[in-house]
Amino acid sequence: MQSCVFCKIIRQEAPAHRVYEDDRVIAFLDIFPVSEGHTLVVTKKHYVDLFEADSESLQAVAAIAQKVAHALREVVRPQGLMVFQLNGAAAGQTVFHYHMHLMPRAEGEPLRLHARQPGDPQRLAELAAKLRACLRSE
Ligand code: AMP
Ligand code: ZN
Repeated sequence: MQSCVFCKIIRQEAPAHRVYEDDRVIAFLDIFPVSEGHTLVVTKKHYVDLFEADSESLQAVAAIAQKVAHALREVVRPQGLMVFQLNGAAAGQTVFHYHMHLMPRAEGEPLRLHARQPGDPQRLAELAAKLRACLRSE
């Protein structure tokens, strides 16, 4: 998919604060984080959504989501962690390449799925480096 932003990240044609990568899956920080550590776990193959994705890729995303969740718990120490995945514009999907959100949550925080402000690039880079180190040491 030439114009898909996540495919561009996968092909290294667009920048991202990567935290993990293997043959099937890539994980990087959301560039508009709702909370510190908001991470996306993405299939390497371009599938629009859950309905298109193959089960091997879905299983790989779930397994890596758990690994990244452990790293987030160690590095960010959130009170809670929300996992969600949107299918179709009506559900709020904005990037039409299958991905799962891992979103650290704090007690009493209003529930938002998207943010309007981009994250501070320096802060995102530092956090991604810590998460990468944590995932390497597992
Ligand atoms: P969704 O609404 O579930 O499709 O989520 C798409 C997410 O991708 C949003 O939270 C966006 O902030 C995020 N996003 C869009 N472009 C990029 C990008 N270039 N790098 C990282 N995250 C992105
Ligand atoms: Zn794509």
